[in-house]
Amino acid sequence: MIAEVIVDITSGETDRVFDYLCDDDTKVGARVLAPFGPRMLPGFVMGLKDKTDFDPAKLKKIKPVEDGLSALTEECVRLAKVIARRYAVPLALSLRLFLPSEMRTGKVKELVKRYAVLSVDLGEAHFPKSAKNQIAAAEYLSVNGKTDCALLNKQFPGSVAALEKKGYITVTFEQVQRDPYKSVEGEAPERRLTVAQENAVSFIKSDERTVQLVHGVTGSGKTEIYLTLIADCLREGKSSIFLVPEISLTPQMLAQLRARFGKNAAILHSGLSAGERFDEWWRLRTGEAKIAIGARSAVFAPLEDLGVIIIDEEHDGSYSSETAPRYNTFDVALLRAKRNGCKLVLGSATPSVETYKRALEGEFGLIKLTERINKKPMPEITVVDMRKEVRRGNNTAFSSALMEALEETLATGNQAILFLNRRGYSQTVICKECGYVAKCEACDVSLTYHRDEDCLKCHYCGTRYNMLSGCPECGSKKLSYAGTGTQRVVESLKHAFPNARILRMDNDTTSGKEGHYKILKEFSDKKADILVGTQMIAKGHDFPAVTLVGILDADMSLHFNDYRSAERTFQLITQVAGRSGRAEEKGRVVLQTFSPENDVLRFACRYDYEGFYRMEVSMRQAALFPPFSKIVRVLVSGEDQKKTLDVLKTVYFALEEIYKANQDKFLFFNKMAAPIKRIENKHRYQVLMRLTDGAVLPQIYDACMEARSRDALISVEENPANLS
Ligand code: ADP
Ligand code: ZN
Ligand code: ZN
Repeated sequence: MIAEVIVDITSGETDRVFDYLCDDDTKVGARVLAPFGPRMLPGFVMGLKDKTDFDPAKLKKIKPVEDGLSALTEECVRLAKVIARRYAVPLALSLRLFLPSEMRTGKVKELVKRYAVLSVDLGEAHFPKSAKNQIAAAEYLSVNGKTDCALLNKQFPGSVAALEKKGYITVTFEQVQRDPYKSVEGEAPERRLTVAQENAVSFIKSDERTVQLVHGVTGSGKTEIYLTLIADCLREGKSSIFLVPEISLTPQMLAQLRARFGKNAAILHSGLSAGERFDEWWRLRTGEAKIAIGARSAVFAPLEDLGVIIIDEEHDGSYSSETAPRYNTFDVALLRAKRNGCKLVLGSATPSVETYKRALEGEFGLIKLTERINKKPMPEITVVDMRKEVRRGNNTAFSSALMEALEETLATGNQAILFLNRRGYSQTVICKECGYVAKCEACDVSLTYHRDEDCLKCHYCGTRYNMLSGCPECGSKKLSYAGTGTQRVVESLKHAFPNARILRMDNDTTSGKEGHYKILKEFSDKKADILVGTQMIAKGHDFPAVTLVGILDADMSLHFNDYRSAERTFQLITQVAGRSGRAEEKGRVVLQTFSPENDVLRFACRYDYEGFYRMEVSMRQAALFPPFSKIVRVLVSGEDQKKTLDVLKTVYFALEEIYKANQDKFLFFNKMAAPIKRIENKHRYQVLMRLTDGAVLPQIYDACMEARSRDALISVEENPANLS
């Protein structure tokens, strides 16, 4: 038999399959070692066939990698091929999505152990006198039975191989399992679904459309709907994938899932060690676990016969990958749902404009949950005008209204969350006296301050503007380039409330293995009174004692340099506000802003998603931003500046051809340096396009495939989440 093998390295020239001889029982998806020049390289079997165009006498033979199962399922192999084409990446790179990196690099220790048992009676075994170790090992085995080979070899060096050769022992491989959730405890109350939940479940099951959107306010019981769907699949012997933003896998959530599904669920998240992650993956691959739960990469779980795929908080930015292949989780999930003939369920309190539009147009099923489970009202949001605070001489990050609310909350023994709206490196210029924000004249998105060049830039068209010396509207010199950092907020809080116990959660405090789990656990165990954090604390958490949420700078994301700023702001406010008053006691929210008259904030304060959506969609239509166009960025990055530029030129000319032939399909087309010109020593250039629709996309991808080179990486992004 002939196997088509792809070797697991990603340089340009090897991105094709090579023919090798293989054993008849070789399976598609198997991991193999293939002779490649003087080396043996790891690879995968992509296909099998009887004939080859090459001279069969010259074909070399592959060696299987021992692991019992094929590493990849056939569906995964097929999907990897689609993804490689779709996102213009080498097949080897797309295959890597489907395997835990631990498996490829062989870094996991003791994932399988070898065990030896005697296969003959001790009396029948014949040893030369000198074989002391073999004799001792055989005696040990006859007394102790099945023994770890590593242990035998340690005590009686060389014995295992020698005994195996003689046929005196049988060696078996056994999976050793780590249980990462041993310490996670929790109960899973059997809940009766509410009528609304019941209706949602039966609608999802009976409606014929593949994609179903559950639009339910925070606390409306969406999670219970997902868990019911998953449990039903499990009963029918089908498997499920449940995707959540990484941050939603809180200790409470883990405990709930664990209690509900036990060993049927494999929970993948960044707090696991490499070995633990591998084991969870392996349990899915062998079919021992039928439910994969995790962040976006769990969409590649090696499950067969899927019954449902769920994407919770579907609007969340973490669902687009920021490293090649820059896949979109929804697209991959949809491919899998179609292939398996199962439903893809999206859930959110604040669906993305694009998703909601498709639901309203009838492409997706739409289920609405308009009330919280216990009919509790949403917490009231008080808007504070920070311009007035500044004029009154208060230059701190806290308004007097917020200080009072904090005092009250602490006095009653409740908890508070203070939220800082901070995104990446981006910096916006805002006037602290009148709320003016610098925007691009052509694109109507906020400009970004670039410290290195001391100028303002638009990330959508590349236009440069001079730095402002004062506010063009009111002449004030009080311009702010960035809000206060979390650290400074914590310091001034400590000053104001010396007795309060304060926790801080942001990118700086959550690195390391335990990361945010520890902080969240402390807070939920009421070991702290105030939690200060960035968007990390916005999502999904259920802290019953939190009765106050303060949003320190609601503006910051409003003026982010992105056409989705309004959407992001609405989502963030709704999500953070939803953390307040989830249990018995009434909650409230204090929202500080420099632009209280802003419509986005007004809709958010009324929890009026529909109103917000209608306004936003008409703005997007007028400005021809997605979903009324497609923004495509081709990013070229490489270490050698000249070579990178050469690759850029090649791509650019190819793309320009497409542009010239299809001018009616382009709203914008230009090449330029990327807003951040160097990251990790790589020079970055881009071709930026805005298309009327996706019609020319396949041509663009083909052109990028064609221009591929070992000198620079070319990546294509559609409606990228981040244009830096
Ligand atoms: P969402 O995901 O929509 O924000 P959750 O699923 O977190 O909402 O539900 C909000 C709260 O209501 C949770 O504390 C959950 O335990 C509770 N809950 C959900 N469904 C039910 C039910 N059928 N009966 C009783 N409590 C429920
Ligand atoms: Zn001003
Ligand atoms: Zn612009």
